Amino acid sequence: MTTGKTAPRRLSIFGSTGSIGRNTLNVVEHLGGRDNFEISVLTGNGNVELLARQAKASGARLAVTASDRHYESLKSALSGSGIAVASGKSGLMEAADREADWVMAAIVGTAGLAPTLAAARRGADIALANKECLVSAGDLFLKSIREGGGKLLPVDSEHNAIFQVLEESQRHAVERVILTASGGPFRTASLKEMADVTVETARAHPNWSMGLKISIDSASMFNKALEMIEARHLFGLAPEQIEVILHPQSIIHSMVGYTDGSVLAQLGAPDMRTAIGYALSFPRRPNLPIERLDFARLARLDFEAPDEVRFPALRLARLAMTRGGVQGAVLNGAKEVALQAFIEGRLSFLAMADITERVMDDLAHLPPAAGMDDVFSADSQARQRASELMKLDLVG
Ligand code: NAD
Ligand code: MG
Repeated sequence: MTTGKTAPRRLSIFGSTGSIGRNTLNVVEHLGGRDNFEISVLTGNGNVELLARQAKASGARLAVTASDRHYESLKSALSGSGIAVASGKSGLMEAADREADWVMAAIVGTAGLAPTLAAARRGADIALANKECLVSAGDLFLKSIREGGGKLLPVDSEHNAIFQVLEESQRHAVERVILTASGGPFRTASLKEMADVTVETARAHPNWSMGLKISIDSASMFNKALEMIEARHLFGLAPEQIEVILHPQSIIHSMVGYTDGSVLAQLGAPDMRTAIGYALSFPRRPNLPIERLDFARLARLDFEAPDEVRFPALRLARLAMTRGGVQGAVLNGAKEVALQAFIEGRLSFLAMADITERVMDDLAHLPPAAGMDDVFSADSQARQRASELMKLDLVG
């Protein structure tokens, strides 16, 4: 007979100060906090004050700021707390090296790639919010997970929904997955209206509260483009098995269609804590204070086909999947540079897709990646080419 309490699960949260990171700490608190979990590492970037507060409140062992400039202020904010402090790229790798049973990968963008891969290789279960890992590194990332022996738990709401309704024993009978998309703030806007939208209107997502970059990617549907590529790798699908349908209420988070004509869907309030809680408690379901759906009040759910003329990102995702190789890394790298330029007012909203497509065409000759160096090289070539094109002012 065993009487001792089981050891708490050790969690690390990469990107704890972001939207997903804060929701993760909230879920951890709801599921027993320090009674059930030990926080190994928290990482942030410039928001040192929040990171220090989170680290103290959760009893984290190590706090890492991705920015060396903020090392001293993080150190002084945590002095006397006994919490270790690190910074920069080496600090993120130290974070990945620390013992953890479960890692939330919620750093935004390509910056999340190296630490998430390292944590996967160490064998932690990876709760994956950072879709860029799969978009850029695809099969190489999956290989790291296999080699480490941990589980890959999708957190992106669409992929988490598919994960919830995909019957493992019936994988051979999966005909298609249907990713839902809210359509964002410009679902009904004309091309002319979309030509001069601002960051403020683009960031105002109708249903989800998210970080700045993913909010703008949702408005351009680049987020859905990344999610198509993410789904291809996660669920081993051919490009033609991945469909996108606009569903403005964001109640159905995604669906799986089977060979008998059945379609299974996962529904819920648009609250990322459901997906995070499922990834944390898998295969059990946690008890969480998420708003319950009231179908009588909802009354209806709407669907429309997406318009690939106003939202060319969807077409670019198909192009990247068909071309294969490092085109996912190229699409993502070019898009990140174009997105940053849009945020800084140097590029128009619609030109983000023009730049990305030109870079994809210019780098279509790159060979498939033999290792991660090839992925990072494709990413940096895409960034450089995107910057050159913007300097040439060929599009705007
Ligand atoms: P966010 O901008 O709110 O937070 C990003 C986090 O990454 C912060 O902790 C920030 O400090 C950190 N960070 C920023 N730049 C960094 C750098 N250069 N190096 C290391 N860390 C850095 O973003 P978010 O909305 O929480 O999204 C995080 C990830 O999850 C993204 O990949 C996003 O696509 C994905 N995701 C988010 C949502 C959502 O609802 N927010 C849903 C699905 C997927
Ligand atoms: Mg999503």
